[in-house]
Amino acid sequence: MMLNRREFVKTGAAAGLLLGLPVVTGCSSTVDASAKVLVIGGGAAGISVAARLKRRLPNGKITIVDPAEKHFYQPGFTFIGAGIWQADDVWMKEADLMPSGVTWVKDAVVAVLADKNIAVTKNGTRLDYDFLVLAPGLQENWSLVEGITKETLGVGNAHSIYDWQGSVKTWSAVQAFVKNGGKGVFTDTWTKHKCGGAPKKICLLTEELARKAGTRGKATFTYFTASKELYDVPHYTPRLEQIYKERNVPIRLNSKLTGVDVQTKKAYFEDRVSGEKFTEDYDFLHFAPPQSAPDFVRSSGLGWTEGKLAREAWAMVDKKTFVHKTFKNVLALGDVAGIPTSKTSAAIRKQAPIAVENLLALIAGKEPTCEYDGYAACPIITDNGHVIMAEFDYDKKPVPSFPFSVMDTSKELRSAWWLKMYVLKPMYFHLMLKGLA
Ligand SMILES: Cc1cc2nc3c(=O)[nH]c(=O)nc-3n(C[C@H](O)[C@H](O)[C@H](O)COP(=O)(O)OP(=O)(O)OC[C@H]3O[C@@H](n4cnc5c(N)ncnc54)[C@H](O)[C@@H]3O)c2cc1C
Repeated sequence: MMLNRREFVKTGAAAGLLLGLPVVTGCSSTVDASAKVLVIGGGAAGISVAARLKRRLPNGKITIVDPAEKHFYQPGFTFIGAGIWQADDVWMKEADLMPSGVTWVKDAVVAVLADKNIAVTKNGTRLDYDFLVLAPGLQENWSLVEGITKETLGVGNAHSIYDWQGSVKTWSAVQAFVKNGGKGVFTDTWTKHKCGGAPKKICLLTEELARKAGTRGKATFTYFTASKELYDVPHYTPRLEQIYKERNVPIRLNSKLTGVDVQTKKAYFEDRVSGEKFTEDYDFLHFAPPQSAPDFVRSSGLGWTEGKLAREAWAMVDKKTFVHKTFKNVLALGDVAGIPTSKTSAAIRKQAPIAVENLLALIAGKEPTCEYDGYAACPIITDNGHVIMAEFDYDKKPVPSFPFSVMDTSKELRSAWWLKMYVLKPMYFHLMLKGLA
């Protein structure tokens, strides 16, 4: 059910207040400067930042460059894959989300000449800037799983909700699997990936559908994770492991999906500790693509070149201020940012106001002093009606927002389901992307 805008502004604001979420209804102080700010990417991070910035920097010249026609609420892909939402429930036209007064260049950036303050687009346009906000999200590298391409996603019953159309195909395949049974192989990937909970959620939702259909006995489920544990935030891990055990879904750790033979339905894995290679036959496969910063981030010298974040060239920014380590007029936030937190839009809700404050400080010639504590949230759907509301900071300490602070958040909650199902999407489109939450 989609609320109309007026209804939402009322209920969303009320929900925001109830949840202790900051709902900005007035204007904060403005900065009188005419800086040129270029925002690369008009996704969750780019639009949120531009909307806030336009209010605070009324004389600034703010440009968003993004080729996309559609703006997706990606957390909804999990709901599509499980048949809870329809394909068209999760997107709005990018044009309708552009903050007023912001210029939209409908093109993709292919290079940033950061020492010259210029971004070059696919069409050959050179966009100059005083300050750059890097928010192009991440790149899904489907072909790093041998035998898979984005175009052939779904062939050989190998599916992924990490793509909009992929989530639609997943739902068809889930229904057939639930009806016919067989061997279900569910896995994630070995790189950092957005919403680490998503591959686990689709596994649990499919298992629940089989139980409800009375066909659970005909199907086996196994969850292969490339990580050394099922979930790496200790407060939530024991209950999640217990749920997998109760539902008879064995977990195999350190398992990296390297390839798929879609003709013979074989999934090829490598054990990341022993190096042992092993093969799993499957009837239904769900996986996540390996992910990295977009190629232009690496080739423009904006990514980490050493340490854990260098392999995928995540943007080399300070984890508290989002200011680039080399180019002090560049900030990065959202999925592209090379910071040790979970890549979620919930994290961006907290990152955007901090990035804007720090950008305004830089524009005013001051030090950026606003600091991010690593907050991220991952509502782990355990069944159609319950969610483990994982909220945590850089230290992996739980930081539940009100009213969850008075509940046992290590367990699945009905109230968190209502939030996930009815509040978060309208809050995303009508508050967060307006720079109001
Ligand atoms: C299956 C799934 C489930 C998820 N579940 C949740 C959840 O439950 N909770 C949660 O909080 N988060 C969830 N997420 C994660 C969340 O959607 C992302 O973290 C968030 O969208 C990242 O925002 P972003 O702005 O960094 O990138 P995006 O929102 O992906 O936007 C990036 C934008 O940049 C543009 N772009 C890309 N390259 C270029 C270029 N070269 N030049 C110009 N523009 C470019 C793209 O067109 C796009 O519009 C989920 C994601 C998936 C896939």
